[in-house]
Amino acid sequence: MSSLSAKIQDVFNEPACDKNRNKDAKARKQGCAKPLTPGAAAGGCAFDGAKIVLQPITDVAHLVHGPLACEGNSWDNRGSASSGPTLWRTSFTTDLAALDIVMGQGERKLFKAIREIKEAHAPPAIFVYSTCVTALIGDDIEAVCKRAGEKFGLAVVPVNVPGLAGSKNLGNKLAGEALLEHVIGTVEPDDAGPHDINILGEFNLSGEFWLVKPLLDRLGIRVRACIPGDARYIDVASAHRARAAMMVCSTALINLGRKMEERWDIPFFEGSFYGITDTSEALRNIAELLVRKGADRQILDRTETLIAQEEAIAWKKLEAYRPRLQGKRVLLNTGGVKSWSVVHALTEIGIEIVGTSVKKSTLEDKERIKQILKDDNHMFEQMPARDLYAMLSEQKADIMLSGGRTQFIALKAKTPWLDINQERQHPYAGYDGMVELVRQIDLAIHNPIWHQVRDPAPWDRQADVKDELPGTKSEAATLHAAEEFAGPTAGDFGEC
Ligand code: SF4
Repeated sequence: MSSLSAKIQDVFNEPACDKNRNKDAKARKQGCAKPLTPGAAAGGCAFDGAKIVLQPITDVAHLVHGPLACEGNSWDNRGSASSGPTLWRTSFTTDLAALDIVMGQGERKLFKAIREIKEAHAPPAIFVYSTCVTALIGDDIEAVCKRAGEKFGLAVVPVNVPGLAGSKNLGNKLAGEALLEHVIGTVEPDDAGPHDINILGEFNLSGEFWLVKPLLDRLGIRVRACIPGDARYIDVASAHRARAAMMVCSTALINLGRKMEERWDIPFFEGSFYGITDTSEALRNIAELLVRKGADRQILDRTETLIAQEEAIAWKKLEAYRPRLQGKRVLLNTGGVKSWSVVHALTEIGIEIVGTSVKKSTLEDKERIKQILKDDNHMFEQMPARDLYAMLSEQKADIMLSGGRTQFIALKAKTPWLDINQERQHPYAGYDGMVELVRQIDLAIHNPIWHQVRDPAPWDRQADVKDELPGTKSEAATLHAAEEFAGPTAGDFGEC
C-alpha cells in the first residue's frame, strides 16, 4: 500500500470520531464520502481541504506543485486574518504546463521554485502541496522537499494530498497528519509554562479569535499555538509543549487532537466560542484541564470572576436587542460545530430556531442540538434548494443564516440573509462576537429594504386591477403567473 493510501486508511480509522466508531470495519474503510448526485456541487478536493487547514499559518510560503488552476482554485478561500506576516497570502505555484510534464521537468521545477522562494523571502518554512497532475506523473515531492531542506537549511514540508485522494474534509485531516509528521515537535521552546494551551481547528475568520485571546491573556493563559488561525511556524512546531488543548472544529482536525494527546499527553476537549454560555464553558474547561495538568487552582477562581464580569457586560448589551428579536424565527443552514453552537447562542436571547441543517455534524453535535431544542424535528440533513425556497417564500422564517452559496435562495424569496460561514465579514466569537452576531441579525431583519422588495411591483398592482375586470387577464399577470418560481431544479447547495 502506498504511503498516501496508508495515511488515508489511518485517517478513516479515527477512533475519536463517533460516526466512525459506529461503523463496521468494511464501512470504515470507505470513509464518509458519499457518491455524488449528478448536478450536485461536489465541494472542494482533498488538496483544497489541506490548503484550507494550512494556509492560515501566516509566515509560511505555500507552494503549490501543479498547474496554475489548482492554486487559483484554493487560494485564500477563507477569510482568515493575520496580525502580522502577509507571506501566506502570496500565491506560489510551479505552474506546471504540458511541456514540463512531457519532458519530465516537474521535480526540477519544484526544486528551483523552492530556491527562488528561499532567496526572495527567506521564510521559516515552505509547505509544498502536491496536486492531481503531479501525483499522476509520479513526482516524488517528499524526496525533493528533503533534498531542498538539507541544501537550503530550512523546513520544507511536503503536503502530499492531491485532489484525487478524496474529499475536502479528508484533505483537512491529511493536513493535520502532515503537521504531525513534519512540523509539530520539531522545535523545543525555552519558555514552556504551566498555562500553555493549543487551540485546534480555529481559523480566525474575520479575526474573530482576537475577541477571545484577550480573555485568555487576562487569565494568564498563553496560547502556544492556535492551529491554524493567525499561526506562526515556530508556534506550531513547538505546540507539543502545551499542557491542554481545545478543539474548535473537530470535523477538520479531530485526528490531530487525538494523536497529540496520545503522543505528548495533551488532553483536549471539544468546545465552541460561539455564544455566551459556550464561551464561558470553554474558558472553564480550559482552566480545569490546566489544573488537572498541574496549574495552580487559583486559575479556577480567576476564570469564574472573569466569566461573571464578561457575561454581565454582554447581557447588558444584548438586552437592547431582546425586544426587537424576541420570537423572531431563524433558519440555520450551515453544519458542523456551528449547527449546535449558533443554535445555543441564539436561543439564549429568545430567538426561535425553525430548522438547522446537520450536514457534516457529528453524532455529538446532533445530540447537543436535541438537548438545546428538546427534540430532533428541527434538524435536517440536507434541504434541497426547492424546499428551502418554498419554506422561505412562505415566510416560515424571518431570516436565514448560512454561507454564500445559498444566499440567492433567501434573496429570491425576499428573506433577510446573513453569512455565518467562512466568507463572513464580521467576527462572531466570544462575548463581543455574540453581541455582534445579534446586532447583525437585527440589522438584517429590520433593514427597510424588505418592505420595499416585498411590495408588489407597480406593473403587478396594475395587473391585479385589470384581473378584477371580468374576462380580462393582463399580459403582465400571465407572465407573472408563468414565472412563479419553482426553485432551482437540481443541486445541492449544502454549505461547507
Ligand atoms: S488538485 Fe486535482 S481536483 Fe484539486 S484543483 Fe487541482 S486538479 Fe482539481
